[in-house]
Amino acid sequence: MKKKIIFLIFLFLFFSGCNNNNNFENVETIIEENNSIIIGINYPTTGYKKLDNKINYDIDKIYNDFKNKYDHFYDLPNKIELNIDYIYNLLDENIITICLNIYINDNINKINYVLTYNFNIKKNSFIAINDIIDNNIKKIDEYIYNQIGNYFYKINNKDYLKNFSFDDKNLYLYINIDNDIFDIVVPLNELKLNFKKKDKEKLYAIKTSKYIDVDKKIVALTFDDGPTKYTNQILDILKKEEAVATFFIVGNKTEIYRDTLIKSIQYGNEIGNHSFNHKWLTRVTNNELKEQIDKTQKIIRENIDYTPTLFRPTYGSINTSMKKNIDLDIVLWDVDTMDWKYKNINTIVNRATSNIKDMDIILMHDTKIRTVEALKKIIPILKKKGFTFVTVSDLKKIKSLRENE
Ligand code: ZN
Repeated sequence: MKKKIIFLIFLFLFFSGCNNNNNFENVETIIEENNSIIIGINYPTTGYKKLDNKINYDIDKIYNDFKNKYDHFYDLPNKIELNIDYIYNLLDENIITICLNIYINDNINKINYVLTYNFNIKKNSFIAINDIIDNNIKKIDEYIYNQIGNYFYKINNKDYLKNFSFDDKNLYLYINIDNDIFDIVVPLNELKLNFKKKDKEKLYAIKTSKYIDVDKKIVALTFDDGPTKYTNQILDILKKEEAVATFFIVGNKTEIYRDTLIKSIQYGNEIGNHSFNHKWLTRVTNNELKEQIDKTQKIIRENIDYTPTLFRPTYGSINTSMKKNIDLDIVLWDVDTMDWKYKNINTIVNRATSNIKDMDIILMHDTKIRTVEALKKIIPILKKKGFTFVTVSDLKKIKSLRENE
């Protein structure tokens, strides 16, 4: 088992975040070897049923999947190998953090990934990443992006923040990209994040992120003036098509459509500010302009714990005072579908698809049923033309990435 020893040393070096301070857990071991496979699994049992059940479930699944896939191979140059080991840590006598490291070598690929379990003993419940980062996914995304650059767009798992560990100083993220793990250390102080001991309502899960080929054509769909009763249908279409969009919402609709907005974020969409009650903002005083923006930011933050970074001016009209007084990124559009005006669905579809260029932003409104119907046609046509759908913020990131290359 020389190989295994080497692997353990590697593990030790790898898990800078999971220092093994305590040994209160029991170790279960599975060792199996035949002509085609070699299995070496160590995993912990803690005595906390909920936690142990979850770990057992995952171990069973990995073990069974591995056996089903590889148990009938013969005449292999090398045996196919499954190795699982773990690091166990106890924080504040209250929190157990466990990192399982799974390694598979099938002679062609070396697959390495991490599963983590963060468990609060007192509450008998798992700790979610949002309990630590306080829904500040944008900040974390920026941090990840700064550390791994272009690889950020290769993240193809919507639960890419699912595997983490932490202590009172740092958050440790294990992100699986291309069969490898990127470990990212986020100093909590630097980001002004603190592990929250008090319960906070969990509003939404982890942002959906998908693989974006930076060199592929991208387009950003945007919907203004919602949310409305049609927004839900748009969200379902987007999800079905694995696409995302940016919704520039009117602040005074936030409370009524709170659930829709939460769903929108859950599905990986972006929300932007489109004033509080759709006033013509180049025709108001500076104070009123600021109030329109700030009130909208505040009501969104208070209701769904989300802070927009984009602003779309009502009626697309901008002036210098706006540029001076608004901290948000002002976003217009490249293609206007005029869906508020044209009643014919095909006209809207044509306007949205016929002259689209790479990195275009398309303007629509989630206020009419015909836009819902048009969208069902627009997405497949643009996909056929080779476009990937991104949020406006991602579009901007990709744009600057390309410019700096
Ligand atoms: Zn508008």
